[in-house]
Amino acid sequence: MTTILVTGGAGFIGSNFLNLWVPKQKYHFVNLDKLTYAGDLNNIKVSNYDNYTFVEGDICDTSLLETLFKKYKFEKVIHFAAESHVDNSISNPDAFIRTNITGTFNLLHHSYLLWMESPFNFRKEFEKARFLHVSTDEVYGTLENDGSLFTEDTPYAPNSPYSASKASSDMIARSYFHTYGLPVVTTNCSNNYGPHQHDEKLIPTIIRKAIQKQPIPIYGDGKNIRDWLYVDDHCKGIDIAVKEGKLGETYNIGGKNERENIYIATKICEILDELKPQNKPHKDLIEYVTDRPGHDFRYAIDASKIENELGWGADETFESGIKKTVQWYLEKYNQTLNL
Ligand code: NAD
Repeated sequence: MTTILVTGGAGFIGSNFLNLWVPKQKYHFVNLDKLTYAGDLNNIKVSNYDNYTFVEGDICDTSLLETLFKKYKFEKVIHFAAESHVDNSISNPDAFIRTNITGTFNLLHHSYLLWMESPFNFRKEFEKARFLHVSTDEVYGTLENDGSLFTEDTPYAPNSPYSASKASSDMIARSYFHTYGLPVVTTNCSNNYGPHQHDEKLIPTIIRKAIQKQPIPIYGDGKNIRDWLYVDDHCKGIDIAVKEGKLGETYNIGGKNERENIYIATKICEILDELKPQNKPHKDLIEYVTDRPGHDFRYAIDASKIENELGWGADETFESGIKKTVQWYLEKYNQTLNL
């Protein structure tokens, strides 16, 4: 059975990826995760499957990587592990440089060493991606509110230590394709939402504060725009990109769901008004707070390359996805918070 290394599989997107694909695909998935504050094994619902193995460890630990690559001879690496929260990157950039840049380099290099041993590494016509690097649209910087979109040709202009560290890792991945020929594909996705996202992120925070009847903090004037994608749609995009993606290429993934932050907060409050009418109107809890330094104004993705070349498309609309998401967090917080 082919073995795939998934890094960061105890985090938000990695766990949704494993929960979706471990039961459906005939691969052995090895999840390497350091279990930082952002990783939680409870996110993984497939731990009892025979084709799933968990390894606790750091992608910066090169002797661990050596052992794992030797033992499992990974056919593919799907690389999610990262420090991912922009606010933390402002207060504590060190971990972002270490994990996102050095960690990605370590994984690329071990993938390259293993691939060099492979009898197929000169049969380019048979090659599929060996390394799928999961990245973000934040590497492109910020857009005006003028209808423009990030394409794969948009120059990189990262503005936060988080996006700068991801941009660096994208460039190192690119160099491993161009210099060494390692079959790398990179995906740059817009903001994800859905189950198992860490409490610190925008949508879980809005829901949690609303049901706790606490102020819902919204940065600045709430007019910043993000392009939202339901997490399973991202996971489906990664699956297509790793199987069908053209080597050395990057693919933007996004749901054409541009929404102002204030719209997101108001929409969630309206859903909660329906689900918990005794506490309405939840939107009265919204409170504007001092803006994040260097806050990018607008992100918006042109996903036509992955749609046209690989046949990817989002299944969820924002309206269907956000309703499911609010219901999921309501259940979670009913169990975990003293409401
Ligand atoms: P997350 O913070 O929820 O999860 C990250 C996981 O990586 C955690 O389980 C953590 O324990 C693990 N990890 C951190 N440092 C590690 C290390 N040194 N070694 C091993 N494991 C380590 O992040 P997420 O939101 O699931 O994002 C996953 C990937 O997708 C990241 O690369 C991120 O840049 C990218 N991405 C995220 C979004 C989004 O909206 N969340 C959008 C586009 C791209």
